[in-house]
Amino acid sequence: MEKFDYLVAGGGVAGVSAAEEIRKQDPAARIALVSGEQQPLYSRVLLPHYVKGLVRRDAVFLRTVERYAAAGITVLAGDWAVRLDAAGRTLHLKSGAALVFEKFVIATGGTPLPLMIPGAQAEGVSRFQTIQDADAMVARLPTVKRAAVVGSSFIALEYLAILCKFGIPAALVVRGPHVFNGFLDPDGAAFLEAHFRKQGVGPIVRNDRLVAIESHAGAVRAIRTERGERIEADFVGVGIGLGRDTAWLLDSGVAIGTAGVRADAYLETNVPGVFAAGDAAELVDPLTGRSRAFGNWSHATLSGKLAGHNAARPDQKSAYDHISVYSIQHFGYSIAVLGDTGAPGGAAIAALDRDTERYGRFFLHEGRLVGAVLINRNKDQAALVALMKSRQPIANAEEFLARPNADLAALAAA
Ligand SMILES: Cc1cc2nc3c(=O)[nH]c(=O)nc-3n(C[C@H](O)[C@H](O)[C@H](O)COP(=O)(O)OP(=O)(O)OC[C@H]3O[C@@H](n4cnc5c(N)ncnc54)[C@H](O)[C@@H]3O)c2cc1C
Repeated sequence: MEKFDYLVAGGGVAGVSAAEEIRKQDPAARIALVSGEQQPLYSRVLLPHYVKGLVRRDAVFLRTVERYAAAGITVLAGDWAVRLDAAGRTLHLKSGAALVFEKFVIATGGTPLPLMIPGAQAEGVSRFQTIQDADAMVARLPTVKRAAVVGSSFIALEYLAILCKFGIPAALVVRGPHVFNGFLDPDGAAFLEAHFRKQGVGPIVRNDRLVAIESHAGAVRAIRTERGERIEADFVGVGIGLGRDTAWLLDSGVAIGTAGVRADAYLETNVPGVFAAGDAAELVDPLTGRSRAFGNWSHATLSGKLAGHNAARPDQKSAYDHISVYSIQHFGYSIAVLGDTGAPGGAAIAALDRDTERYGRFFLHEGRLVGAVLINRNKDQAALVALMKSRQPIANAEEFLARPNADLAALAAA
C-alpha cells in the first residue's frame, strides 16, 4: 500500500487549494490528490461564460498536469474514493488501490440533485456542473427552439442567462410562491421576475413541480407539471440544488451532518487529522452559529487553503472566519448574496427602489446584521461585509436599512 503524509480527496478548487497550501507549509511532505474528474482544476464559475462564447474553452482551465508535478503533488486522476477507514488511516479507491495517510482532507464538493421523474434521462435534459456538461450544452444549444428551466437556484439563473443570450425563449418552473423564495421577499421577487420576463423568460410557473418529461425518439419534447401545465421544450435545464455524496464515508467514523461532512471552526472533523473543506463541508457559520454547507468559489478556495494550513501546521492553526459572498451579473443586473440569509428566528428587512431598480434585503440575528441580498447595489457590498464582520448591533436597524439610500459606508466606518 502506498503511503502519503497527506491525502486529499477531490480535485476541485478546495482540494487543490488544500494540497498546494500543504506543499507550501511542508516542503518535504508526500502529498497525493485523488480526483474523480480526469482533467486538472478548472473554473466552474467560468463555465457559463464558455457556454455563452465569451471565453475560450482552454481559458477555463486553472492548472496543468505539469504544474501539479512541479509542486510534487501526486495526482490520481479519474479515480474515486469509495471507502474511508479513518481509524486505520486508509482510503480505498474505485480502482482497487488502497492509500495509507497521516492526514486527510475531504474536499469532494457536491452533486447536482437529479430530477427523479419519468423521462428525466431523455436527451436534452441538462445538468450543469462539469466541463462535459458545458460541452454538451455548446453542442446542443444551436438547435434548441424552446427551453424550460426548473428550479430557483443560481444554476437555474445561469441557464436562463445562457438561453436569453442565444435568444431562446425559456419557461421557468419553481416550487415556491416566487423565484428565490429562500432569500427574496414577494416584492423583490416580483421585481426580479418582471425583469426576467423582459429578457424572454416565460411563462414563470410558480407553486408547481415537474412530474414528467415527454420525449420523442429519445429526446425531450415537453415538460408536464403537477398542476397540469404542459410546456413544449427541446431543452430542459435542471437547477434544483446540490446534494452531498457522503455514501463513501458511511462507517468511516467521520461524522456526517444534515448538510455535509461536519467540521469544527478549524475545519477538522471529529476524527483528529481528518479535515473537510469547500462545498462538501458542513461548518458552523461564523456569524450565526448555525451549522450549514456553503456553495461558492471563494468559500471553497479559502476553506481549502485553511484546511491545508491547519493540517500541516497544527501549531499555528486558525479558525475559519470568512463571510460568504456569491456575486453574479445577469441580464444587466448584479445580484449578490452575502453572509447567512437562512438563520431561523431573525428579522428580515427589505428595501426596493423601483425608480433606480435597486433592491436590498437584510437579515438580522440577535440585533446584528448577518446576511444580505443585493440587486444592483454592488457598491454596498464592502460596507455590508464590514458591518457583518464587526458584529456590532445596528441602532434602529429596521428603520435604517429599510431606507433605499441608507448610507451603509458611513455606518460601517463609524
Ligand atoms: C456552472 C457553475 C457556475 C458557478 N458559478 C459560481 C459563481 O459565479 N460564483 C461562485 O462563488 N460560485 C459559483 N459556483 C459554485 C462554485 O463553483 C463551487 O462552490 C466550487 O467549485 C466548489 O468547489 P469544491 O472544490 O468544494 O467542489 P467541486 O468543485 O465540486 O470539486 C469537487 C471535486 O471532487 C470530485 N469528487 C467527488 N467525489 C469524489 C470521490 N469520492 N473521490 C474523488 N473525487 C471526488 C468531484 O468530481 C469534483 O471534481 C458555480 C458552480 C457551477 C457548477
